[in-house]
Amino acid sequence: MDRADDYIEFSKATPTPFHAVHEITRRLREDGFSPVEPTDAWSFQGGERHYVIAPDQRTVIAFVVGQQAPSDAGFRILGAHTDAPDLRLKLNPVSEACSVTRLHTQTHGGVLFRTWLDRPLDLGGMVYHLQRDADGNIVDDPETGLPALERHLVRANEPVAFIPELAIHLNRKVNDEGKINPEDQLVAVLGSGERAPLVARLSELLGHDLHEASGFDLHLFPYQEPLRVGVDGSIVLGPRHDDLAMCWASCEALRASVQGSPQSDRTRVGYFVDAEEVGSMTSSGAQSSFLRHTLLRIARQHAAFGNSGREAEAAFQATLVVSADMAHAQHPNHPKKHATGHAPQINHGITIKTNANERYASTGETAALFRGLCEKAGVSVQEFVMRQDMGCGSTIGPIVAAGLGARTVDVGLPMWGMHSTFESCGAADLNDAVLVFTQHFSS
Ligand SMILES: [Zn+2]
Repeated sequence: MDRADDYIEFSKATPTPFHAVHEITRRLREDGFSPVEPTDAWSFQGGERHYVIAPDQRTVIAFVVGQQAPSDAGFRILGAHTDAPDLRLKLNPVSEACSVTRLHTQTHGGVLFRTWLDRPLDLGGMVYHLQRDADGNIVDDPETGLPALERHLVRANEPVAFIPELAIHLNRKVNDEGKINPEDQLVAVLGSGERAPLVARLSELLGHDLHEASGFDLHLFPYQEPLRVGVDGSIVLGPRHDDLAMCWASCEALRASVQGSPQSDRTRVGYFVDAEEVGSMTSSGAQSSFLRHTLLRIARQHAAFGNSGREAEAAFQATLVVSADMAHAQHPNHPKKHATGHAPQINHGITIKTNANERYASTGETAALFRGLCEKAGVSVQEFVMRQDMGCGSTIGPIVAAGLGARTVDVGLPMWGMHSTFESCGAADLNDAVLVFTQHFSS
């Protein structure tokens, strides 16, 4: 089993941001990381390993406290996003039509509609129950004064639904004008027959009666597992490479870094953040105060802060952020979609992403710093600049750079089919990402 096979195992366990936070923290606990609560009184010594999960359970910040106060030595931050474009259940999702029961969905992010058709789909996410006393009255949480909630991470682990394609005989122009209306045409079939027994069966698989749930965040996602393809097995085909591949590489680099160097001067931070695909404006997303507040709290509660003589905010001057999000590889069937000299190739190393309109945070300076890390790690580096006649995407890099006032570089592994239900990336590149990210934490 090589690192790409380990990524495949990680991918199977991370179909939603909730599951990603669960799996990342499970792995980190194997290396001695322990949770701290946002409401705890914090106090840290060099070498401590912790993580803090945002109240919405979709973002987690993991950190290894440096020997020096962050106000003196800064942070080494690696950020990646836990969400992916997908289909999420509407609040009243169930209806019947044409003798089947259906689940109505809403799209999250830039869903590539057609790739969701004719795929077995699994269902999972978080289910919430209001706590009640023996008389059925709602119980309040003593700390917040709000109704107390039980949260349950759920997953059917079965191909519970699918969205059938329309026969070409009923739409002869589908290959030329196959537009999909997501309101009407991304409704999933839950089963043939009446809703009551089907919803009961789904509730049984999830372990929770969906009629009794007080709330839910439930996602449909491909049931099929990722796998290695090509006669040499050099490509990994699977869901959510954007950006769970970078979450995996960041998590594994943090673990490799503490295994190799339990102590270091600088505080190492793994930032696994939700909602990138929809602009990052949530309570825990990159536009929220969660990262900045957490970093400042770590800086102020560091044992050596009292001797530092600097404000906690000085930490951001000596900080380098690597924002890791997947990149577009040049496509062999569409080679003209890339700018000359800026066409990353699969299995040829990690890509630095640059945009003069600052859609990426990389600068000449931070790109040079990252090239230095790649050279030290023995990893090849490629460059991506979007064609000037096409619009450029963005990521958390510019948001984090602006929010912290810290130097940032945007990087990622080249991949094909971004936002398809099945995306492809290079197995060797996955290994390279872990190597250079480990170097970032070690430098
Ligand atoms: Zn992404």
